[in-house]
Amino acid sequence: MKSVLGAVAASSFVAVAILLLSWTIYFVELNSSAYDFALRLAGPVPPSSPVVIVAIDEDSLDRIGMWPWSRDKLARLIQGVSAGKPRAIALDLLLDNETSEDGDYALALAIANAPPMVLATRLDSVDGVELWRQPLGIFIQKGVLLGHVHAEPDFDGISRQVFSLKAGEGRVVPAFAIQALHAAGLEFKSDFEQKAGGAELIRPQAINIRFAGDQNTFRRVPAWRVLEGSADAGEFKDQIILIGFTAEGLGDEWFTPFAIGQKKTSGVEVHANVIDTLYAGRVITEVHALALLAALGAFVLLLWWLNHRFEGWRSYVAAISTGPLLLALSWLFMKYFHLWFPFPPFWTAIVFVVPGLEVANRIRVSRDLDRKIERLSSGWITALTAFQSQTQAASERRNRLFGRRRRNSRWKLDAIDFFNKELMQFLSFNNAILASIEDVIIVSDLEGHVVYQNIAAKGLQKYQMNPPDAPAYLASILDSGNFRPLFENVRTTTESVTVNFIPTRDGRRFYNVSILPIARSGIVITMHDATAQYELNQAKSDMVSLVSHELRTPLTSIRGYSDMLLKYDLVQDKGKTFLGTIINESNRLNQLIQSFLDIAYIESGRHKITKSDFEVGPMLKDLIGTVGPMAAGKQIAVQSAGADGIRVHADRLLIYQALINLVANAIKYSPAGTMVRIGVSDGNGGVRFEVADQGCGIPADELSKIFEKFYRRDNEETRDESGFGLGLAFTKEVAARHGGDVVVESEVGKGSVFTLSIPG
Ligand code: ADP
Repeated sequence: MKSVLGAVAASSFVAVAILLLSWTIYFVELNSSAYDFALRLAGPVPPSSPVVIVAIDEDSLDRIGMWPWSRDKLARLIQGVSAGKPRAIALDLLLDNETSEDGDYALALAIANAPPMVLATRLDSVDGVELWRQPLGIFIQKGVLLGHVHAEPDFDGISRQVFSLKAGEGRVVPAFAIQALHAAGLEFKSDFEQKAGGAELIRPQAINIRFAGDQNTFRRVPAWRVLEGSADAGEFKDQIILIGFTAEGLGDEWFTPFAIGQKKTSGVEVHANVIDTLYAGRVITEVHALALLAALGAFVLLLWWLNHRFEGWRSYVAAISTGPLLLALSWLFMKYFHLWFPFPPFWTAIVFVVPGLEVANRIRVSRDLDRKIERLSSGWITALTAFQSQTQAASERRNRLFGRRRRNSRWKLDAIDFFNKELMQFLSFNNAILASIEDVIIVSDLEGHVVYQNIAAKGLQKYQMNPPDAPAYLASILDSGNFRPLFENVRTTTESVTVNFIPTRDGRRFYNVSILPIARSGIVITMHDATAQYELNQAKSDMVSLVSHELRTPLTSIRGYSDMLLKYDLVQDKGKTFLGTIINESNRLNQLIQSFLDIAYIESGRHKITKSDFEVGPMLKDLIGTVGPMAAGKQIAVQSAGADGIRVHADRLLIYQALINLVANAIKYSPAGTMVRIGVSDGNGGVRFEVADQGCGIPADELSKIFEKFYRRDNEETRDESGFGLGLAFTKEVAARHGGDVVVESEVGKGSVFTLSIPG
């Protein structure tokens, strides 16, 4: 919209400029030639007015005598013409000088007896004063009209118009042709004559002559024929007879649009043309300047649109082809409407506007290029900074490029080359990364059409080069029914989904499949081969089953029967001691199995973590109560601090067990009479439990090992303490399951601090 408004404004401006230009002398000349051309193109028209020229031609001069002829001869000529009963006679000769009295009288008599007559007059400047050269008084009789015979050649010497009247010496004289029509009593339409209350008013106006043809268009009778009586008097009946020179060299010849560079047209023929133009209503009108301006504006707009619509040579062809069209339009107007539609301003518009638009286009493209380069250099390139290996060299090249002062089109091309190269390298870098990824990556558009697969995809059993549809493709690879609802879900919610351990169709491999949306433009599917993990889980799960069934069941029997033996007193003295050992050891074994299962359960994922929001204080109170007898046995005091009001979101049972492990260790591995402190603090949305003792401590090289399963330190202080080396491993697993951690700081001989942190 903005560009259209701009184009309208620019078109108006250009139209005004061209119109102003078309009033300069060169254009006036051009326009005049175009006018003549259009007129000639429109072609001659058959004269429609009753005009006959009685020509004083070369033959007449040969036969009758050299000019000037005596007034007697002119009198005879008029008598001869009058005999044919014409409507009017218009004499295109100046009768302003006196000759012999007899001769003048004879002519006056002939005029008196002739039909209505028009005599010629003209304004001549004598010593800078304009004076009418008019017929002698004796010729100006009643009913004789005077008409001015001024032809008005344009600056190029071509007569195209006459003035409806000429004013001078306080008198106004209508044109010769107008007077001839009046004398003949023929009506004609004009806008320069008005009848007002019986009087006729005539306005000064240029009358553009619609020439009927070249110099021999109107009927002609040589003057000598009339004088020698060989003319057919019938030819003059009801005609307007124009008497004048057609012979060359008598000073009354003019160039017209039909006779340029060829033979000139005689003055009398020009008058005949004017009579015909007026009589037939063929005065050539001109397009109004404002209408022309509007048309020009519209045309420039059209050129703009063509340039917009067709780029390059097509727009030139389209613009140039309007040239002949305009000419045809001009011809049409001239021929059928006698309207001069000047096409040169429009041609000028083509000449100036088409290259102008092209230049404007170039400038716009160049500016656009500048902006794009700027954007590439600032924003875009930052995206490439991840592209480490290239950054150094590229930034040097970039600095060199942008350090250049002269930013001509060469520079712009260099810049484009630079970015092109950068992007290409970046792309191949990215491709290399994608190719090196072992996970399968499949990208689809939002409709599900697969648009990309990485190299790893080729290893898929049912790999297809051009799979049409991502959900169907997945379904063909994996044995998990329909992926379409999942897809839809990701597409509509734009939230990613991950499904673990989906078997392939042959059941040999297992994949973790993630479906992720990318900025509302597509969907990425990643498939991670989790077969090994699946198998490990499977093995763990199998082991848990084994331990819990195959070990526990016989152990329960051993315990049960041992208990029965003791209860029913079935063994004696020494046997009882052995039985006590059996029961103790099977209890220990049971504990070991329980501890092992505790870990195995959560590791295998069988133990589902059920989080709740609970207060830490009461839990610690329970805990201290539980370890109370054990602590009392070693005279160790257990204290807790900072738990008031602190809540945590976690699996209460697991946290309790994890903490029991830490506190029990603290008691176990501390000498009698020491103290165990349980500190609680919260912050950053999580809770930290600190269990600090004053025990034997752990050497630095063993700090990381103590969290391993079945790892027990073998030293004097701890040797006597029972345990399986599973407590800390369990605590670690619980922390990990909550997204937290357990760490230890310790100093040998001084004590240890275990910190269990659980995020919120
Ligand atoms: P267990 O206590 O059954 O041996 P744990 O996994 O709980 O197994 O502990 C592993 C080892 O870490 C212990 O054998 C002990 O040597 C060491 N340890 C644990 N807690 C402490 C502590 N508070 N002070 C000193 N050593 C400790």
